[in-house]
Amino acid sequence: MEVDERYIHEIVQKVMASVQLDTASSDLHGVFKDMDSAIEAAYEAQKTVRVMTLDQREKIISIMRRKIRENAETLANMGVSETKMGNVGDKILKHTLVADKTPGTEDITTTAWSGDRGLTLVEMGPFGVIGSITPTTNPSETVVCNTIGMFAAGNTVVFNPHPKAIKTSIFAINLMNEASIEGGGPDNIAVTVEKPTLETSNIMMKHPKIPLLCATGGPGVVTAVLSSGKRAIGAGAGNPPAFVDATADVRKAARDIVNGCTFDNNLPCIAEKEIVAEDSICDELMDYMISENGCYLADKDVQDKLSATVITAKGALNRDCVGKDARTLLSMVGVNAGADIRCIVFEGPKEHPLITTELMMPILGVVRVKDFKEGVETAKWLEHGNRHSAHIHSKNVDHITEYARELDTAILVKNGPSYAALGFGGEGFPTFTIASRTGEGLTSASTFTKRRRCVMSDSLCIR
Ligand code: NAD
Repeated sequence: MEVDERYIHEIVQKVMASVQLDTASSDLHGVFKDMDSAIEAAYEAQKTVRVMTLDQREKIISIMRRKIRENAETLANMGVSETKMGNVGDKILKHTLVADKTPGTEDITTTAWSGDRGLTLVEMGPFGVIGSITPTTNPSETVVCNTIGMFAAGNTVVFNPHPKAIKTSIFAINLMNEASIEGGGPDNIAVTVEKPTLETSNIMMKHPKIPLLCATGGPGVVTAVLSSGKRAIGAGAGNPPAFVDATADVRKAARDIVNGCTFDNNLPCIAEKEIVAEDSICDELMDYMISENGCYLADKDVQDKLSATVITAKGALNRDCVGKDARTLLSMVGVNAGADIRCIVFEGPKEHPLITTELMMPILGVVRVKDFKEGVETAKWLEHGNRHSAHIHSKNVDHITEYARELDTAILVKNGPSYAALGFGGEGFPTFTIASRTGEGLTSASTFTKRRRCVMSDSLCIR
């Protein structure tokens, strides 16, 4: 039998990932048995980080970037193996993106006023130790992205990752500490516990040495941090609609939407979760999705079976279906789809459970609307007031403007796939913590700072 090199490489990567998943976490940097010890270690490390020069921090961040690039494939394989969600190819891209483009210390800026009465500066200072709760959907991507931003700003960070992604998260946390040590910094700039639970999360939320919390996940965790009595950044759930109006380049819209929707099997919170299409272009759009973009048209019977499979009787998501590819989902309802199938489409009312629910699966329900006005109202209804992400395909600037105003989301992509919002095929920087609910939007180092005014009265103005 001929075995090609790529096949061998894939096997080696999978084996490496499973070896890493089996590595005892006690051998790795930044991992503690209990939350109090983890917080204490991060507190001690922050004393050193606080007084580091920006150059020193930047040197360490450049080592973090290198380590993530070198380990992108391992992290991607670990994430998929441990969480059973997403796909390795797209997870490699996500890690590379985070390594290359997450802002570092350049994001920390100073505002100055000078005049007759002297010089006043507003500087961005660290909070200290930040408590960060991270999801299953982008586990190591979020750990890396948050650590780079928080550390660039002079903080250290305590993570309470999702228990179902703990090994992948620990592997990423270890890499962050290795980078710090290699760059002459302290250990424990990022820490966690061996077994994160709701109890360890509560200890973190209440701990007096943690002044700022950052939650990335669904509505439960965002509400929990916002009820903690502390300052909190809440990056919550979305259900992004993609609206295609009558003026759109329909063929391109079909391609962009399917590409965005299927990226990492629809796990990103910004990804297209349903389509709203004007009646006059709706059939054409569906045709392009099916004939050119690998979409499977689900009939009523398949839709019903999918609804009963991916959503439980109590209305919750079936976690075994989240982040699975289209062919796997179809096989779960008895459909044997061809190798080219990457997305499931159907037309339905906006109240359809597969349309109104944030599924995080490559299933795109299409809601047909009679005109632009009804389209805006429908998209707004489907976004559920999350004010997270929405997308539009249109050549009418007035339409785009009105849609953007009405939806009022942290992210709005016009005429592109959703991932363009993360600087992937679009301008700007990436993050996997999009603070939709608390309004910071795409977080970066400056988000994790407090503003400090420093005033010199009647001096140091040299104009
Ligand atoms: P999840 O809400 O189940 O878990 C997220 C994290 O919160 C985990 O660490 C979990 O253990 C913790 N958690 C959950 N409830 C908690 C509570 N009551 N108290 C303390 N901790 C709690 O989410 P998930 O399935 O891992 O991720 C998917 C969800 O996260 C989706 O809704 C998605 O839209 C959202 N998300 C948002 C962003 C963003 O940037 N806005 C990024 C990624 C994911």
